[in-house]
Amino acid sequence: MAVLTFTQARETVIAQIRSAGGTPASERLPLLDSQGRVLAEPIHADRDFPPFPRSTRDGFAVRAQDVSQLPMRLRCKGQVKAGSAFSGSIAETECVEIMTGAPVPEGADAVVMVEYTERDGDAVEVNRAVSPGENVVARGSEARSGDLLIEPGRRIRYGEVALMASVGRSSVSVCRQPRVAIIPTGDEVVEVEQTPGPFQIRNSNGYSLYAQVKAEHCTPVPLGVALDREDRLAEMIAEGLKSDLLLLSGGVSMGKYDLVEKVLAEFGAEFFFDGVLIQPGRPLVFGRAHGTFFFGLPGNPLSTMVTFELFVRPALALLSGEASAPLRFLRARLARDFRRKPGLASFLPALLEGDYYDPSVSVVEWKGSGDIASLNRANCYLAVPEEAAEIKAGEWVSVLTR
Ligand code: AMP
Ligand code: MG
Repeated sequence: MAVLTFTQARETVIAQIRSAGGTPASERLPLLDSQGRVLAEPIHADRDFPPFPRSTRDGFAVRAQDVSQLPMRLRCKGQVKAGSAFSGSIAETECVEIMTGAPVPEGADAVVMVEYTERDGDAVEVNRAVSPGENVVARGSEARSGDLLIEPGRRIRYGEVALMASVGRSSVSVCRQPRVAIIPTGDEVVEVEQTPGPFQIRNSNGYSLYAQVKAEHCTPVPLGVALDREDRLAEMIAEGLKSDLLLLSGGVSMGKYDLVEKVLAEFGAEFFFDGVLIQPGRPLVFGRAHGTFFFGLPGNPLSTMVTFELFVRPALALLSGEASAPLRFLRARLARDFRRKPGLASFLPALLEGDYYDPSVSVVEWKGSGDIASLNRANCYLAVPEEAAEIKAGEWVSVLTR
């Protein structure tokens, strides 16, 4: 069927979900519970920001024109601290002692930092000139009352929390979290509590997917492991399609017991692609059935994880109500020469080290996409473009963090 490049597949996921066009329902949450959710309403300024001309320094509020000749002696009329105002105004050669965050008194247009003054009773000697407006934030210069401060569709992080607090929003309307059904498949897969037989393996994909769904602030709906039997798979897929997104793992390769696509087809599924030219994760299925999008993720644990990050994460961003779903890579220098056969876009388990000024990354040793133990040595994925055959140590490369 349709095997796409990484970029084509990514664009297909985004375009299909966009064109389906559903907007999630909303719910109201206390501000402090809204972190990580997507804003469902616009946030406006409820007053001017700042609401008064605000001093950004401790010092003396002055008329800038009075301190052009230095040193200059001014008469100090009093003080003003944050939270109150000076009653009265400043005339020629007068000043008022002022603290950071306090309103600049009428008549003054600048603040001289205390470091550049000497106090002598009621007199203040100023040793540095200021220009009009210096160390003062004019009323309404950050935002005007009624201005749009945050658009709906924005993920709420601490900055948005601070902004909403500053406009008095103690509760906020957010998009409901998508419910994401998770069905790992495979006759050999047993639950974590069970003791696996000699040829069985434990269900790690159900757990990594659960954790990844949670990390996207969505609600995981684990439906248990499906056996490689059409009737069981069909029952569970029917259940899974009741969620907002269905994730299956395993059963999407060419093996005799890879039944996921066959069973989905019996549900009248539309398939947008069933392979992507990436490593790991080539057998990746994306489609829609009964109005619900689904991914058939490859069963090998690293493939399951990587394809989630590359394709499911952006899908969930859109289904969560986010306005856009960019996939962001960090840049780091490759620590060791890297060579490989070109052709596929690769996302290889790698170790990112160093601090912000010298990030370096190296591919860790791994035995392929089933090598779950290699995750212990890795904390990211090195992104290698299709055409790259060799990357030299010291070159800048792209890294997807984990
Ligand atoms: P499949 O795509 O079904 O052929 O599976 C590919 C590989 O991934 C096989 O070695 C499976 O045993 C393994 N695998 C499949 N599902 C899981 C799972 N839920 N947890 C861990 N490994 C799995
Ligand atoms: Mg299988």
